[in-house]
Amino acid sequence: MRWVKKLCMKGLTAMALADLSAAAMEVNPPPSPPTNQVIAIMGARLIDGRGGDPLPDSVVIVQGKRITAVGEPGQVEIPQGAEIVQAQGMSLLPGLLDSHFHSQYNTNTPVTYQLHHGITSFRDPGHPLRFYDPVKTTNAPMPRVFLCGAHLDGPPTVWPDQAVVIESAEQARRTVHSHVDRGASAIKVYFRLELAHIRAACEAAQERGVPVTAHLELVNVPDAVWAGVRGIEHVTSFGTALASPENVARFTEAVRADSSARRELRHWLWSTIDLQNNPALQPLLKLLLTKRVTISPTLAIFERRAGIKEGTAAQAAAFETMKAFVGVCHQAGVPIVVGSHTSAPFAEKGRAYQREMELLIECGMNPLEVIRAGSLETARFFQIEDRLGTVEIGKEADLILVSGDPSQNLEAMKQIERVLLNGKWIELPE
Ligand SMILES: [Zn+2]
Repeated sequence: MRWVKKLCMKGLTAMALADLSAAAMEVNPPPSPPTNQVIAIMGARLIDGRGGDPLPDSVVIVQGKRITAVGEPGQVEIPQGAEIVQAQGMSLLPGLLDSHFHSQYNTNTPVTYQLHHGITSFRDPGHPLRFYDPVKTTNAPMPRVFLCGAHLDGPPTVWPDQAVVIESAEQARRTVHSHVDRGASAIKVYFRLELAHIRAACEAAQERGVPVTAHLELVNVPDAVWAGVRGIEHVTSFGTALASPENVARFTEAVRADSSARRELRHWLWSTIDLQNNPALQPLLKLLLTKRVTISPTLAIFERRAGIKEGTAAQAAAFETMKAFVGVCHQAGVPIVVGSHTSAPFAEKGRAYQREMELLIECGMNPLEVIRAGSLETARFFQIEDRLGTVEIGKEADLILVSGDPSQNLEAMKQIERVLLNGKWIELPE
């Protein structure tokens, strides 16, 4: 607990320490509107993000930056002087959260890819904190940005300008503390980081109350989870936990020799996986549930179609197995969240998140479950569900209005009408 000692020496009280460890904060908290500003959103179908049945006709009151009332017409008093928003024919939802988005010194894509499409928060799993300096200083409205800092990798690292190369357990611990001191609200470990160093990073992260999420190719998911990892980025991270030992050996040997081999071989590895008769599957699901692991599958980047964009039939079949695996995890009760990975081969520019939602439907989730995945579940993954992720009294007012009924058809999620960020309307392009 070195960091505690250091802070105590600076004279902080025990109360301040508790606050520090509990709060998962965005690096760019949006400005708050005046506390006497009141907005009443009337007549929308309310989909509150918790997964239950929509409320067909609702009234939601926002005062300052907070939601202060939620109910049916007649139940909720409309304060004098409120800005009345008539939202009949629309659905009101919590602002969406993206578990996996990357940007570099850029204040444009967070707005055009995210905010304009109803995504009011995202996490970048693994780009250095400095990439987001412009986001902190701009006056333009930005989604809330949650960061992990530079990802922790082992040598030879794949992304030298984005990683911290870890050579010892002590260095792993030091890096985690330094990242959290500078604003990281989660830690990302990458696939060349060896297991002992993953464990050290997880121990340090636990001291600070932040989760560790992992992109894996060489280390097995169960080993990483036993070491303390609580999030898995990319469905492909599960390949080595589900394939036969011979095929796993072939895969890991090739990737260890040349990191870029993972790109070709992942789909090959998944084309060999049989989910029906798989002795590893049930123990894996049990472990994920017991340890409360969240999966951010980012399916859209792995989508392959036979004969299109050089996709082969074997790759398309492998992708079907990836989707089936996500479906099995969901059925078992493992939390699934929505991560766009910024861009995807079969999504228009800025629409990877929407493609990911469609693919989760193909995994067997229903629209309300997918919306819950992109709101409450992702907020839980970020450890901010006490203040964001649902439409409930007391929460900060990140809200979106879409035309139509996404509880019946998620196509409606492409019809964003209005976005409220921290109680302030965002100007959307025509
Ligand atoms: Zn990524």
